Amino acid sequence: AEEVRGGDKEVVREYFNNTGFQRWKKIYGETDEVNRVQLDIRLGHSKTVENVMQMLTDEGSLEGVTVCDAGCGTGCLSIPLAKQGAIVSASDISAAMVAEAEKQAREQLLTGKDDQSPAPVMPKFEVSDLESLDGKYNTVICLDVLIHYPQSKADGMIAHLASLAEERLILSFAPKTFYYDLLKRVGELFPGPSKATRAYLHAEADVERALQKVGWKIRKRGLITTQFYFARLVEAVPA
Ligand code: SAM
Repeated sequence: AEEVRGGDKEVVREYFNNTGFQRWKKIYGETDEVNRVQLDIRLGHSKTVENVMQMLTDEGSLEGVTVCDAGCGTGCLSIPLAKQGAIVSASDISAAMVAEAEKQAREQLLTGKDDQSPAPVMPKFEVSDLESLDGKYNTVICLDVLIHYPQSKADGMIAHLASLAEERLILSFAPKTFYYDLLKRVGELFPGPSKATRAYLHAEADVERALQKVGWKIRKRGLITTQFYFARLVEAVPA
């Protein structure tokens, strides 16, 4: 489908190269320059990363497993994956995010960690929207990216991600539940200065349907909630 000029994707790219980059770098980082809400989101997101690592390692070692981290942000997931021996291809639509992820990876993977086993392989970083990715990976993961797109766009994104995955696809998204819907509506009535992009919620049934359409089924589900962070996590496999 043709991209509408000034559509969601361009707005998202611009946001994550500028104000969104500053905001999310802080949230995903470790400094204490975060407010109470941001700290809560940091906690929720780190639980999602932990949950994903658990889902993956439950199925066996990650040594030598190829993983595509689509929309990698500052590398919160790519780095622990590399530490477990995965061969990671990390990409993001935002050049600022990719540069930060690469810097973080160098700091955390290459400096004085000679006691690590297995030795981490540096992830391969690339500036790319996920729709343009190609290749085949054992596992494809896309965390907290779908929130930036309506379900009409998400369907195509899910189909494309599934086409890159040989064994499993892990997605997280903000679930469209009554409570969160309400919270979001309240948020829209009182928009804070840092709320720069629209947030789209996705019904689990819609995500499941998008997966089924391309021959995939959900094998595991997780739900991560804190006060201000909500994520439904699904692991899908070929049906
Ligand atoms: N997945 C990372 C994590 O969980 O730590 C980052 C999540 S952050 C909320 C969303 C990221 O998705 C941003 O870094 C943004 O630049 C990226 N993004 C948004 N739309 C994208 C697209 N169409 N293709 C690739 N990346 C995208």
